[in-house]
Amino acid sequence: ITVSDLVSESYNRIQAVDGQVNAFLTLNEEAARAKAKQLDEKLGGDASALFGIPLGVKDNIVTKGLRTTCGSQFLDNFNDPLYDATVVQKLEAQNTVTIGKLNMDEFAMGSSTENSSYVPTKNPWNTDYVPGGSSGGSAAAVAAGEVFFSLGSDTGGSIRQPAAFCGVVGLKPTYGLVSRFGLVAFASSLDQIGPLTRTVEDNAHLLQAIVGHDKMDSTSANIDIPNYADAMKQDVKGLKIAVPKEYLQEGVAPEVREAVLSALKVYENMGATWEEVSLPHSRYAVAAYYLLSSSEASANLARFDGVRYGVRSEKAENMLDMYKLSRSEGFGDEVKRRIMLGTFALSSGYYDAYYKKAQKVRTLIKNDFDKVFEDYDIIIGPTTPTPAFKIGEKVDDPLTMYANDILTIPVNLAGVPGMSIPCGLSSEGLPIGLQIIGKHFDESTIYRTAHAFE
Ligand code: GLN
Repeated sequence: ITVSDLVSESYNRIQAVDGQVNAFLTLNEEAARAKAKQLDEKLGGDASALFGIPLGVKDNIVTKGLRTTCGSQFLDNFNDPLYDATVVQKLEAQNTVTIGKLNMDEFAMGSSTENSSYVPTKNPWNTDYVPGGSSGGSAAAVAAGEVFFSLGSDTGGSIRQPAAFCGVVGLKPTYGLVSRFGLVAFASSLDQIGPLTRTVEDNAHLLQAIVGHDKMDSTSANIDIPNYADAMKQDVKGLKIAVPKEYLQEGVAPEVREAVLSALKVYENMGATWEEVSLPHSRYAVAAYYLLSSSEASANLARFDGVRYGVRSEKAENMLDMYKLSRSEGFGDEVKRRIMLGTFALSSGYYDAYYKKAQKVRTLIKNDFDKVFEDYDIIIGPTTPTPAFKIGEKVDDPLTMYANDILTIPVNLAGVPGMSIPCGLSSEGLPIGLQIIGKHFDESTIYRTAHAFE
């Protein structure tokens, strides 16, 4: 098989199914086929694990010369970015082939991809259902076999929740493990880029290719990087698993709880042990997250002013109107809601009551995790309270939509890594996700735990 064959397969599959799934916003076909031809000449030489692999990239990750919209009308004309994100540079160096850019909720704000200003992505398992979000395109493209590898981003669950809904493997790395340079910022203290794949092993290879210190990202960690695919192979005998009781309580659908409990049985049979623990501040996580992430978003999105980036309103007759009209025409409702919430939370007189308090809650949540990890190797629970919901079901009710991330958000607030792997099907035939949460920079134990289950 040649790289050209692989790339053709990918475009054939897109041609056949993407009309129903809507995972891709922009295809890179001409450049991808040209690159595949070049790589074919090198076939048989020294090759990396990812040589010639077709890859999809979430549309908030900047790709040189390839349109990058963030799912927003504001960036509809951002056709020719001048540089590649660090992760894309690293993958190019491994000779992957970028097939196209993947749909997402506008500026990564959402849990269903219905906030894309272009088109909602559909769940390949059943197109009446959402694929999750905000990396819905990234998860759906892998689930539908359009690409086997994709990149997503996760601020409050946006890799793990769509991975769970689409039955694929998705990892949110430890904060600081993967460079954010070239990721359009939503909430800079929470955002991480991560891999979505069909198998745990693929996932380990894709993570390996994108990690490492980057001087272009001041929060990038300078640590020794293990070999994840090797670490993955160790068995789970003696592994100490913690199961937070808050993750199996009311609000979690019985069939999700049962799927998690039977996964724990599988671990028991392999010689691991598990005990119930408590993450007592979990209940405050969603409230703290929406204050902090919206505050950061309101600052990060100030750069979209119609001057430097994106589409400028044609109606404006003076400078102030240019800012105002460009922003009111360019941003969708959810983005505006977050900017207003964040601006309010940061305004003088309210700062201590909201932003500062939310920061304190964040510390309490992190301390909860630290405490559990003193006695246990890994935390296991569900990724989401329910399997995928129907398209249109929650779109008019932001608070219900926000509550969907209740089990993924604490992980971002604590900065620890978390993965979702498939662990069963619901009565409606939709995938259920098992969430595996590790210590800071201990992705190895996550891969080991995930691989043993697979
Ligand atoms: N659904 C959450 C939100 O809307 C998380 C999004 C994300 O992780 N990017 O903020």
